[in-house]
Amino acid sequence: MDARKSNPAIEERKHSILTKGEQNQQLKCNTDSVAGCVSQRACVYCGARVVLNPITDAVHLVHGPIGCASYTWDIRGSLTSGADLFRFSFSTDLQEMDVIFGGEGKLTRAIDDLVEKYHPPLIFVYSTCIVGVIGDDLEAVCKAAAQKHGIEVIPVQSSGFIGSKSAGYKAACDALLRLIQVPQGEEIQKGNAINYLGEFNLAGELWIIKNYLQRVGIKLNVALTGDSSYKNLKKATKAYLNIVQCAGSMNYIASQMKELYDIPYLNISFIGIEDTSESIRKIARTFQDLEMMRRTEELIQAETAAILPQIAYYRSKLQGKKAAIYVGGGFKAISLIKQFGELGIDVVMVGTQTGRQEEYDTINNLVSKGTVIMDDTNPSELERFIMEKEADLLVGGVKERPLAYKMGIAFIDHNHDRKHPLSGYVGAVNFAREVYATVCSPVWKYREQGGEP
Ligand code: SF4
Repeated sequence: MDARKSNPAIEERKHSILTKGEQNQQLKCNTDSVAGCVSQRACVYCGARVVLNPITDAVHLVHGPIGCASYTWDIRGSLTSGADLFRFSFSTDLQEMDVIFGGEGKLTRAIDDLVEKYHPPLIFVYSTCIVGVIGDDLEAVCKAAAQKHGIEVIPVQSSGFIGSKSAGYKAACDALLRLIQVPQGEEIQKGNAINYLGEFNLAGELWIIKNYLQRVGIKLNVALTGDSSYKNLKKATKAYLNIVQCAGSMNYIASQMKELYDIPYLNISFIGIEDTSESIRKIARTFQDLEMMRRTEELIQAETAAILPQIAYYRSKLQGKKAAIYVGGGFKAISLIKQFGELGIDVVMVGTQTGRQEEYDTINNLVSKGTVIMDDTNPSELERFIMEKEADLLVGGVKERPLAYKMGIAFIDHNHDRKHPLSGYVGAVNFAREVYATVCSPVWKYREQGGEP
């Protein structure tokens, strides 16, 4: 069925929804949300915070009302091997009088207090909606505080209303570019280690991938931003290559680092067996080292052989089931389509919050005829297409979870709330096990009986 015909109520969004095989025009994406539609996207500030928050020894100070800070407190399940200052949520807690008379004094005092109490090497100051409205000069306050305390105090221009979540990613990348900039006249000594961009060390995923890379002889310079610190981020310009996992959040900084520091970049993904293997190969190939390629193939073979029996078991249980995907970025959606293919599951609906045109083209090539593809959707559309396509499972993030459960279908969290790794070979098994546990849970039989046990 033509997805648009079944949705007369969302005329303004008709170019943001396609059914494979039924329309030829390109999907509209990378635009502002339609006013009045309840977008599943987070705000600009939230986009910036998720990218920067895993920097472990930084103070993350939210200049705004307390709600912005509490809504994003410990927003990712990022793990640390060192400092854990990032797990606090600091806020200037702006109140009515600050809104009337300005919050700059309060911000200055908050920075002074935090420096005295925690001695951080770095403070990020996030602007929120109200700061954009009252016009506090974050740049000036941060500059004065940096001079006073002799540390870096970096403003993040992330007022919630200035765009979509993608604008928040860009604000975070701009803050990171300020942090890693090389003083004028200083020469950069390039090493042979690589940076890993768009990796946030959820449930220790960075450490899993670091182990694979080490086994084939590739050193990690710094990850942006999982388990990173002020000191190792300062070495970011010395990398030989940038690899980018979360393209939505980090492609901008990758292209800037190419231009400014001549560091090439590769888009990779460690989600699912196929993409994990292909990504390690892609990275190793850049070193043009035959011995490294041999070790790479050895690792892929050993890791794949170790998990295939488990994947085959879950596949036998899941063959023929139908999945709906709604995730943040296009790269993750692409990997998930392939991963569901590895489990014998057909993807019947796929959408993203911030996917790019070329990613939607790839998605379109990968899915079967009749699959609904959509950008920046809302709960009403998700519900409509999940029902129409009779999906057994929705994979998404925290905002999609209640919808799936209310509809009585299985759900997988592929966002920052989860506590177990879904990257690499170990992640592929975790994912298969989780899909099996939720899709084949006996609880769904009560739904068939109208909720009566
Ligand atoms: S939309 Fe504005 S007020 Fe709401 S959380 Fe984002 S920055 Fe804070």
